[in-house]
Amino acid sequence: MHNTKYIFVTGGVLSSLGKGISSSSIGTLLKQSGYKVAILKIDPYINVDPGTMSPLEHGEVFVTADGAETDLDIGHYERFLNVNFTKQNNFTTGQVYLSVIENERQGNYLGKTIQIVPHIVDEIKKRIKSVGKNFDFLVVELGGTIGDMEGLPFLEAMRQIKHELPKSKVISIHVTLIPLIKAAGELKTKPTQHSVQELRRIGISPQIIVARCEKPLSKELKKKLALSCDVDDDSVIEAVDAQSIYQCPLNFLKEGILTPIARRFELQELRPQMQDWDALVKKIILPKDEVTIAFVGKYLSLKESYKSLTEALIHVGANLDARVNIKWIDSQNLDSSNPKIIDDTLGDVDGILIPGGFGERGIEGKMIAITYAREHNIPFLGICLGMQLSIIEFAHNVLHIKEANSSEFDPNTPYPFIYLIEDFIDQQGNNQIRTYKSPMGGTMRLGEYECILAKGTKILKAYNDQSLIKERHRHRYEANPKYKAMLEEYGLLISGESKNGLIETIELQDHPFFVGVQFHPEFTSRLQAPNPIILEFVKQSLESKNKTSK
Ligand code: GLN
Repeated sequence: MHNTKYIFVTGGVLSSLGKGISSSSIGTLLKQSGYKVAILKIDPYINVDPGTMSPLEHGEVFVTADGAETDLDIGHYERFLNVNFTKQNNFTTGQVYLSVIENERQGNYLGKTIQIVPHIVDEIKKRIKSVGKNFDFLVVELGGTIGDMEGLPFLEAMRQIKHELPKSKVISIHVTLIPLIKAAGELKTKPTQHSVQELRRIGISPQIIVARCEKPLSKELKKKLALSCDVDDDSVIEAVDAQSIYQCPLNFLKEGILTPIARRFELQELRPQMQDWDALVKKIILPKDEVTIAFVGKYLSLKESYKSLTEALIHVGANLDARVNIKWIDSQNLDSSNPKIIDDTLGDVDGILIPGGFGERGIEGKMIAITYAREHNIPFLGICLGMQLSIIEFAHNVLHIKEANSSEFDPNTPYPFIYLIEDFIDQQGNNQIRTYKSPMGGTMRLGEYECILAKGTKILKAYNDQSLIKERHRHRYEANPKYKAMLEEYGLLISGESKNGLIETIELQDHPFFVGVQFHPEFTSRLQAPNPIILEFVKQSLESKNKTSK
């Protein structure tokens, strides 16, 4: 029988307080203390998953190894804990209702009236327990803020689990804001008091308060919070804005969060091994070197939609002891009729990165950046759409096939260098590829796939000569193998393929470092294990910068 301990994390006062980072930090400290830890994110919205939501609504869609489109917090959990989670680690109100309604249609409730209590709440409890089994700790983060109507069934499920289990198996942590009223120069505790009162009204009394604040809390204020929120004096954990999110576990440790956790769970003193983590964080805060990478995308106001990639650049920087400065370039501002703008924009960068993307907007500018990287020998990494566009750019400017395109942008192109996977499946009669019909009608290739890297390639070297790698995908279109021989003849090498012949990686032979990958390497990057191809790209950019500055 499993003996899981549950840590319920709720948020008070307002959203965006960093509940995800708090949950990840607590998880990290427990994992580094030698325990098996999982984290679950519950999203109270009604969408079944964030896959169909606009990045405007939701930030990045994170893809798990098993091919689920999940909340970006799952990305933080994996990055902090350095483990792979699954589609079970994120569920929504939509999923819960869908299961209950399907059960009802099949007559599984034996004619009962289906209600929020017990049926919806039971389904939530079942899902929480199923994620927790086989783990020592399950941290459950509830999205939204206390007081949200749609969060109520989840809070009831948490209350019931607390009621059913011994006291030493469940702890409730409330992450809240202590606002600073600038005019008075005062930190205010009242919103937190109200938020905790609301939680208590529902039947949950938190044992720990994580207090987000702009400046440190005085001893008196902490005592006042402890008294008014009815927690022990050592259980108000100050969370002052940090320079890096990776500092948070260290800050929580310094604040003594493990003392009340160990006490409640009746454990011996917890001693997490944080030396390596600490060393990496020091390199994030005070690195020896720096490098500037052009990040050529669209919708740059939505940096949250590139979260995994910007985090991956931080991981890589920490491991290279160099700050990775991102020069954000809106591809819509690059225009071939104005070479001066192109030079001014890209002339001073050490590397050029084109991330994934959907739709036609801004692709012209991305191709201009690709040409610039290719012709000026600037280290280049193209991810997903970035790889697809580098093939099209090569076809236009090296093979001189001006009509080469992706069928995403021109369904009738006579030269579909990039085309729909469905075509490929049909041609080959091959149904081994795991694809998902999206409710919007498309088919996505999602999740982890194996890729075989060719001998003597730069990418193989980047992956430490490991020829079979696994990376995650999220795309509909693919490079067309029909043009493989032609591309290779002119120097664009197909350096990695799937077992069934899909083109997964490319590289230019006559270039210091020009690599494209069909997968999203950023989804597997962690602070303690940066992704190899992103690491190599930034390393090459750094070396090229240091060579030119000598
Ligand atoms: N739009 C391209 C496709 O669907 C690339 C997707 C991506 O970059 N994630 O294949």
